[in-house]
Amino acid sequence: MAGDTSIFNCTLCGECCRGSQKVWLNPIDLERLARHLDLSDPDELIDRRIVVVEAAEHGIRRPRLRFPPTPVGAACRFLINDLDENGRLWGRCSLHGTEAKPLVCRLAPLSRQIDLTNGSEEWKEVPPVVGCPGWETESPPPEGRPVFPPVIDSGIRDDLMRETTYFRLLSKEKD
Ligand code: SF4
Ligand code: SF4
Repeated sequence: MAGDTSIFNCTLCGECCRGSQKVWLNPIDLERLARHLDLSDPDELIDRRIVVVEAAEHGIRRPRLRFPPTPVGAACRFLINDLDENGRLWGRCSLHGTEAKPLVCRLAPLSRQIDLTNGSEEWKEVPPVVGCPGWETESPPPEGRPVFPPVIDSGIRDDLMRETTYFRLLSKEKD
């Protein structure tokens, strides 16, 4: 996905799945990931340190994927480093094509900002990491570049609506 005038093709460099990236999750992500891993309960994701809960924006505690250490630094446990047919190192998401791929990863490089007071949405294309090589046209700045609302399939739209409900609940906790 990308904006109307941009051309984005992920090169599978895997940089956004390593290091200090924070992949925040919502309750649907947790349910699906637990099911995908044959865990009886989403809480097991935390017990097994697959997910950690920590302060996110506005100090609100949220779950996120824990990137365990590897010999070459922290990386998402679902990232598969591999060689393509030309011997080039690439990073593939082992959750790609499954229901368990987190919403934020499915949307990247698009990002949604929602105004909880009136439900309006703004969409931006945002580099998942500085220097993301995916744009064939001009890259957006680190803070993102506004784009028209993308056409998204009904499954993702449902997930976004459920995520909005989750954000509303979090927002009430903050108040
Ligand atoms: S950093 Fe950009 S090009 Fe590399 S894997 Fe992530 S989205 Fe794709
Ligand atoms: S779930 Fe997949 S896309 Fe998301 S950070 Fe992990 S490897 Fe990358």
